[in-house]
Amino acid sequence: MKAAAFDYIRADNVEHALSLLQQHGGDAKLIAGGQTLVPMMAMRLARPELLVDIHRLDALRTISLTPDTLTLGAGVRQCEVERHAEIGQRLPLIHQALHWVGHQQTRNRGTVGGSLVYADPSAELPLAALILGATLHLDSADEGPRSVDAQDFFLGPMFTAIGDTDLLHRIDWPIWQGTHIRSAFQETAIRHGDFAMASAACQVQLDAQGLVARASFGLGGVSGTPLVFAELAQQLVGQRLSPELAKDVAHAAAQTCDPGSDMHASADYRRHLAAALLARVLLQAATPKE
Ligand SMILES: Cc1cc2nc3c(=O)[nH]c(=O)nc-3n(C[C@H](O)[C@H](O)[C@H](O)COP(=O)(O)OP(=O)(O)OC[C@H]3O[C@@H](n4cnc5c(N)ncnc54)[C@H](O)[C@@H]3O)c2cc1C
Repeated sequence: MKAAAFDYIRADNVEHALSLLQQHGGDAKLIAGGQTLVPMMAMRLARPELLVDIHRLDALRTISLTPDTLTLGAGVRQCEVERHAEIGQRLPLIHQALHWVGHQQTRNRGTVGGSLVYADPSAELPLAALILGATLHLDSADEGPRSVDAQDFFLGPMFTAIGDTDLLHRIDWPIWQGTHIRSAFQETAIRHGDFAMASAACQVQLDAQGLVARASFGLGGVSGTPLVFAELAQQLVGQRLSPELAKDVAHAAAQTCDPGSDMHASADYRRHLAAALLARVLLQAATPKE
């Protein structure tokens, strides 16, 4: 199928993009890498009258690292992040998540912001954003700038706190301080590069005795949004993450999920998969490197 007819304007700068959104409201859509919007338009699941191209705006493509925060412009391409050695060192969960996002070709054009705004419940970057406690900074000609925690951003399948005239400007990713911090990301899909049937990820900090000092973990693909389990994570603090404990906590998390059934997998199978993947990532992150 071909996309319905649309107009196209390449924005000169962020203010230009914001004013076009303000003028056209819900009839206009921003396009960044186009990796989901173009297929959606080709299938006529999206029919914007105007595409506002923000892919080349330098103001959205900045990467900055301070001791405690990584700030990524929304228009930073996924491939730029995966090639950034310092991000890999200081926030390995983002690299581990990107490993599973589509294909090299989609990551070459796809942006960090586009993935977060598209908000597929199986998408890897939204899950990483929740686990790391990211903050999303939005801008709008109507309302001015505002910040939304990842926890409040993802509202349902492909549904976020973004309004018709909002642009996601940049995302802050907190960097945990201290030593013995490890993370892991695992998922199962029909083929590598497909959206996951279920995914699990975590970041864990151990103390000098090998006990959990801090933990954050979550699941993707098993509910309308990715899920993070703050209370269960808190219960791990002060404990040694044995295989039994990892299994118990993963089972408890998976029981709260509400996955759907389809031709690929039943809801029960997805729940079982989620528990198995979560136990695996927790153990991976809690096992010190040789
Ligand atoms: C073959 C294939 C496999 C894929 N597999 C995966 C996968 O396994 N996991 C995964 O997560 N994704 C996958 N994807 C999807 C995809 O790669 C990402 O969702 C995509 O990169 C989104 O980024 P984009 O820049 O291309 O967004 P676009 O397609 O340009 O935009 C997506 C949506 O976000 C909005 N948007 C974009 N930028 C902004 C902004 N700054 N502010 C406000 N709104 C904005 C757009 O208006 C649009 O609604 C796959 C895609 C393909 C084609």
